Amino acid sequence: MTNPLFDALIAPHKARRSPLLILQDQSEMSGADFVARALRYARVLSDLGLRPGDRMAVQIAKSGEALALYAASLAAGVVFLPLNTAYTGPEVSYFVTDSGAALLVGDPEKAAALGAVAASAGARFETLGAAGDGSLAALADRAADDFQPVERAPDDLAAILYTSGTTGRSKGAMLSQRNLLENARVLVKAWHFTPDDTLLHMLPIFHTHGLFVASNVSLLSGGKMIFLPGFNTAEALAFLPRATTMMGVPTFYTRLLSEPGFTRDLTAHMRLFTSGSAPLLAETHIAFEERSGHRILERYGMTETNMTTSNPYEGERRAGTVGPALPGIEVKITDPATGETLPKGRPGMIEVRGPNVFQGYWNMPEKTAEELRPDGFFITGDIAVMDDQGYVTIVGRQKDLIISGGYNIYPKELELILDARPGVLESAVVGVPHPDFGEAVVAVLVRQPGVEPDLAAIKARLSDELAKFKQPKRYVVVDELPRNTMGKVQKNLLRKEYAESFRA
Ligand code: ATP
Ligand code: MG
Repeated sequence: MTNPLFDALIAPHKARRSPLLILQDQSEMSGADFVARALRYARVLSDLGLRPGDRMAVQIAKSGEALALYAASLAAGVVFLPLNTAYTGPEVSYFVTDSGAALLVGDPEKAAALGAVAASAGARFETLGAAGDGSLAALADRAADDFQPVERAPDDLAAILYTSGTTGRSKGAMLSQRNLLENARVLVKAWHFTPDDTLLHMLPIFHTHGLFVASNVSLLSGGKMIFLPGFNTAEALAFLPRATTMMGVPTFYTRLLSEPGFTRDLTAHMRLFTSGSAPLLAETHIAFEERSGHRILERYGMTETNMTTSNPYEGERRAGTVGPALPGIEVKITDPATGETLPKGRPGMIEVRGPNVFQGYWNMPEKTAEELRPDGFFITGDIAVMDDQGYVTIVGRQKDLIISGGYNIYPKELELILDARPGVLESAVVGVPHPDFGEAVVAVLVRQPGVEPDLAAIKARLSDELAKFKQPKRYVVVDELPRNTMGKVQKNLLRKEYAESFRA
């Protein structure tokens, strides 16, 4: 095998006339057509002068063509660098410059702005657009499909994926061929994916979840995908009867639950629902099981480590946990100050080692050295507790830890209590500057539609359950929390918004 990742992802589909992708308009792309398309795009990239190791940044809408372009980059050895479609010109400019991308690919609607971005970064610009002379798609139409995938070694980079930027500036995680292939293999096995599966794919493909978990797992298993541009409740209901599996972020599940048409007969034939990227509330777990008869499998991962832990396929899926480490992956909980492994049951830093762990941050040797230990363990920045059976419960990010009057406060501890109060849909607890305590707790509560939370009762409940130093010094009731595209609560925005709460 010369190009193990590309070969493994496309091998099951090469000779198939049956559909690999079912698209939004009900049209289908067969396995053989997908592979031929990928090889044509690879020929085009090579003809444009891209060489193995060159970076190709893409900011393109999700489509079958976009996925074929991803496969093409693997065949051509070009490092794939997908960008969030919500990013503005200046944001894209940063990523293109930082990565030294040779080529930026964009959608035709943004051609003018992105063309200028590419020019100022010294990169070439192309559109992917299906029509229009000169677009990559049009070039691919005319290209031969006999491209020979280039030789790739396991440590060669397959992709640079920028982190979501939830805690600060996004960092480019360098992912090798081996990182992606090994992780997809582990997941196919752990989640029992087979060629008989049809995955309802509504996640974006600029993020690890939709690209390296959902797409890679489905491609490797030889299954089909219902490949939709994004999440839409009505579409999800319409396509669910044709699927066997679905991967989602928590908001997909809460939105399905808010739809009266989401009934058991739509999911009777399904075999797996997974959730990740953000914490799934215990209530959502319970409500989903009651409504659908399925227990969502929650797992945990990040851009730098791909998937790290997963609740078991067979065996107990414990609500509120992200399950034990996946096979071949080591997870330990350490003291953030000393790096020493903590006894079971004590909260500490999650550290991860295994073939899934990335090669370091692009262009950031110091940051890489800080977070990637010489023995191969990666310091994730997430705080968690591990129980005797190895199940991991995420407590929160270390950066969200609140230190008030010298005491550590984990927001999750308060959020779990607040979320369960009548009238509260969900909550976010943050620390903001306080003249006496260093930081003080602000509780942001989202009201349940039509019900106003009873703040007096909530305060009384918290003071019964939690020490005085953990009590919020301010409560705010809002209609929704700021979230990014992956459904992650943007606590940095909340901290900014309430930063002046206690200033004299
Ligand atoms: P940045 O690193 O740029 O601040 P980010 O960490 O949000 O952004 P991602 O790599 O997309 O970027 O997200 C990984 C993070 O998402 C994890 O470190 C963890 O905090 C959170 N996460 C993922 N899955 C879960 C889960 N099941 N429960 C709780 N948190 C999760
Ligand atoms: Mg992160």
